[in-house]
Formats: sequence, structure tokens, C-alpha cells
Amino acid sequence: MSQPRRILIVGGVAGGASAATRARRLNEHADIVIFEKDDYVSFANCGLPYHIGGEIKDRSKLLVATPQSLFARYRLDVRVRTEVLSIDRQNKTISVVNHNTKVESTERYDQLILAPGASPIVPDAHGIGSNNVLSLRNVADTDRIKKQVDAMSSQGAQGPPPQQAVVVGGGFIGLEMAEQLADRGLAVTLVERNPQVLPLMDFEMAAMLHEELQAHDVKLVFGDGLVGFETTPTDTSQSDSTETATAAVLASGQTLKADLFILGIGVRPNVALAQQAHLDLGATGGITVNEHLQTNDPNIYAVGDAVEYVYRPTETAMRIALAGPANRAGRIAGEHAASDAANIPMTAVLGTSVVRVFGLTAGLTGLSANTAKRFGVNVASVTIVANHHVGYYPGAKPITLKLTYDPDTQRVLGAQAIGAAGVDKRLDVIATLIQLGGTLEQLAGLDLCYAPPFGSAKDPIHMAAFTALNAVHGLAKFLDADADLSGMQILDVRTAAEIARGMLAGAIHIPVDDLRDQLDKLAPEKPTVVVCASGLRGYVASRVLMQNGFTDVADLSGGMMMRRRAKPNETLV
Ligand code: FAD
Repeated sequence: MSQPRRILIVGGVAGGASAATRARRLNEHADIVIFEKDDYVSFANCGLPYHIGGEIKDRSKLLVATPQSLFARYRLDVRVRTEVLSIDRQNKTISVVNHNTKVESTERYDQLILAPGASPIVPDAHGIGSNNVLSLRNVADTDRIKKQVDAMSSQGAQGPPPQQAVVVGGGFIGLEMAEQLADRGLAVTLVERNPQVLPLMDFEMAAMLHEELQAHDVKLVFGDGLVGFETTPTDTSQSDSTETATAAVLASGQTLKADLFILGIGVRPNVALAQQAHLDLGATGGITVNEHLQTNDPNIYAVGDAVEYVYRPTETAMRIALAGPANRAGRIAGEHAASDAANIPMTAVLGTSVVRVFGLTAGLTGLSANTAKRFGVNVASVTIVANHHVGYYPGAKPITLKLTYDPDTQRVLGAQAIGAAGVDKRLDVIATLIQLGGTLEQLAGLDLCYAPPFGSAKDPIHMAAFTALNAVHGLAKFLDADADLSGMQILDVRTAAEIARGMLAGAIHIPVDDLRDQLDKLAPEKPTVVVCASGLRGYVASRVLMQNGFTDVADLSGGMMMRRRAKPNETLV
């Protein structure tokens, strides 16, 4: 029979609510209390942008559970508008304040679970407190932003010009907000300090999202950061703030006039309580936890955006502010806190993530070539373009899939994918393989489901693995999309119609089907790179060359499609 104990939980959303419900399922006799400083528990953070955009119409759908429903089913004592102020580890108590009554009290615990999440980074800049400069983290933020957007889009409907919005930050939340605001009819500008959105992705992959954003009239400003706002005084009878921002001021001096400004420039872990209680923090600023999510005090657990997990590709500690790890960690901590049985430990995480940007889905798992470089991990990568289901079945959409692997061990280390359909499925399969420490050969051998409406007998996943194995086995060599081709013999094997849109300077054009008859146009002793549209014909051509005395032949990974994205300013002839 489960033992009575008092489990207190700080934060009642992703990690906290998961911990509480798991704890109850394992221990019917525990006294479990959730303290949540805001008004709502267990709400759908990830759905917030879509309520602002109008895709999730009914606000109540965001409130997955309420204090009442959590009491009814789990007998959880949920105290909203109650903030935990400090922890006394010696006496195993916390002090809390009820924001309604302003009454402070002390609560005893046997186990304490910290799930305080993270807070949006808000730079200390002029005008940052303006009533139309907003971040998105919780339901109150959503209500605030939605109210303004509703007012703005109804004004836009009465006639041009549309109201303007600036979204600062090209991460997941920035992209989701840019999409949703544009869908509401606002004229959106996205500002990102890096030269691309989703900085964890490789540039040429992210470039596909740039094209999609621009195709939907989202203006992009890269390589420029926010330094402040131009403001005007506000009618304080209408608003708490004394100022309204009229323009974002960027580091370059450029100003972007707008009516609404959304900040999505990252989050900081909420570690004040942990610091006050002298719990260990790691190098990235998150709370240090073991595989059971215990801090250096075994009676205090921590989960979610506030902690550091083990990042599988480097086996180092890292903050991964995503809902999946927070929910899983909450469940594990709740289980460990509530029962004396050894539980399933937290596994290392990959940062598997996905975002929709208008008609495209983009996602990644594990290392990109970009992040590998940053961590000093030696990787090789290949890029393939393949349809999400067989081309002959109507509606096939290309997926661009970039696979990253260890060239020595052949272990798969990461994948990035972009396409209009089927992206999430490919990433999840590859993430599963990476999680299990799988190799290219194992990826190539996966027995995946297939019928024409769903995939191909050789899935894009297999194609990426085959391509990488060809490189590993010396059957092909692949150059990155941004490779320096100077001094190389460039062979373009596309059709005449395709090259009419431009070829790399100095390239020799021989369509792949004519290559065997025209080998005398090429110098076999010269380092040669073969170029086609997406890399597939280039590989076929490179096999012809390699078996006809050409000693140094490479295929340009992802072909001209990715080359143009990696090097958009390169002159074509
Ligand atoms: P939270 O879920 O944020 O919960 C922390 C709670 O603790 C908060 O409610 C806070 O008020 C409370 N709290 C803090 N301090 C105290 C205190 N001292 N006393 C009492 N209460 C306290 N992730 C994905 O994987 N996919 C997505 O599509 C996705 N979309 C997102 C969209 C948005 C707009 C946002 C904001 C996040 C999104 N995330 C997404 C991230 C995901 O929501 C978080 O990683 C996850 O919620 C973290 O869980 P958590 O329990 O650590 O923190």
C-alpha cells in the first residue's frame, strides 16, 4: 500500500500537472498540492498562438484541466494565484503568498517538485513597457495580444492599409506568431538578429522557410537586433501603460513602424527559488538534476524549462525548452516522489521539434551541421529531396531531408526536414533511431509501412540513409551545398530546359542521359563536381564518371536547389 506523504509542486502547467497526476496514480494516500502563481493550471501553452490566430476559436479548449477537474478526478489541492516565495530546506517547508488575500503562509513538504518553467526574455530597452509591446507565455498574454489583434484586424477589414505588426525573433514562437498574425490580415515584419530563422537549422534549410514567409508577404529583416522603441504617451484611462510604441528601433538605426510588437527572443529559466535554496545550477543556467529529476537535495525535484537535461548527441547538459521533455520529466519526478519503487529514468533528449510556417512544415532532431560545428563534433551530412509519397499518386509533395551522421561510427546524429507534408513522420522515425543509438545501416534497413497514398517503397528516410551509406562506402562523395567549387571541373547534368534558368559559372553542360557518349568533353584527372537539380541525377552521373577513370568526383548535395539557397548571391551564367 502507498505511504502517506506530502508532495508540494511549484507550477501547475506542463511539468507540474504531469508530476501531480502521476504522483496521485501511484499514491492514493499522498497529500498533493499544486501552487500556481497565475490564474490557470494545465493550459495548452503550445496552442496559444493558434487561438490568437483564430484557428482554435474556443478559448476554453486551451484550458485542458481546471482546479475543479483536477480535484474531482485526482483529489489534487490546486491553489491558483498562490506564489511560492522561498524554500527552507532545513525544515522542509516553503513560504507561499496568496495573491488574492495577500496572506503569507508556510507549508511543510516531504517531497517538493519545482516546475516553474521559464520567462520570456525582455530586454531592458526604451519603450519595452509600452502597452503594445507584448510577449507570449501564458493565457493572460494571449488575451492581451488577441484583444489588440482583434481590434487591428477589424480595422483592416474596413479598408486598406492593413495594420502593421513586428515580430522580433525567428524561433518557433516568432514563426508561429508571424504566420498567425499574417493570417489575421496584418502586415508582418519578422526581425531576427541572426542571418536566418531557426538558428539551430542549417542555413540552406532555413532559407526554404524564408521563401515561404516572403511568399506570404512577411517582410524579413535579418542580421539586425532590437535596441528599443519609439513611443508616444498613452491615454492612461484606456491602458495600464503610459506609453504606446510607434516603431521598433534596430541596431543598424533602421526603424520599423507598427501598431503591435511581439517579442519572441527566447526564454530564461525560472531559477530564483532554486538559487535561494542553494540548489546546484549547471553551466547553461538551468537546475542540475539526476536521471530521477532530483536536484542535489534528494527531496527536491525539478523538471521542465527550468532544468538542464542530458543532450543525447553530445551527452552534455543542456536546456531544452520543449513540452515533450517537460511532460515526460514531470511524470518521472511525480512517480519517484510518490513511490519508493525505482522508476523509469529520464532519457537523454534530442531537441526534436517541429513548426508549421504557412504551407511548409519544418523540423529537426539532434545535430544539424551548424550545431555540430558549434559543439566541435565531427559530422558528415547528406541532403536528399524525395516525395512524401510515390510521385504517381496524386498530391505528392517533396520533402527536403538533411541527415547528419558520424563518419567514423556511422551513428546517425541528426536530421532536418522541410516540406508540405510528411515531415513530422520522417523526423519522428529518425529521432527514434537516434535515441536508440542507431546507425546508417540500421536506418537503411528500417521496415516502414507503405502504400501509394502514404509513402514509397523506398521512403525518403531510406533514400537519405542509402545516400549517406554510398558516401561511407566510397561509392560517392558529397559536397555541402555551400562548398567552395573554385578550381573544380563543374559538370551540370540537368536538361537544356533546366539550365536555361542558369548554370554555375564555368560549368560544362552534358545531360545525364548523354554522358556516356560525351565523356571526351571532360578531363578525367581534374577534381570534378557534378551538379543537377536536387542531387539524384548528379549521383547517377558521378557513378558513370567514377567507373570511367575519373579519379576525384563529387556530387553537390541537394543540387542547385540547395546551392541557390546556400549561396543566393552566386552569379549564374
Ligand atoms: P510551464 O508550462 O511554463 O509552467 C510553469 C508554471 O509555473 C507557470 O504557469 C508559472 O506561472 C508557474 N510558476 C513559476 N514560478 C512560480 C512560483 N514561484 N510559484 C508558483 N507558480 C510558479 N513546446 C513544444 O514542444 N512544442 C510547441 O509547439 C510549443 N509551443 C509553444 C508555444 C508557446 C506560445 C509557448 C509559450 C511555449 C511553447 N512550447 C512548445 C514550450 C512548452 O510550452 C514549454 O516547454 C513547457 O510548457 C514547459 O513546461 P514547464 O512545466 O517547465 O513550464
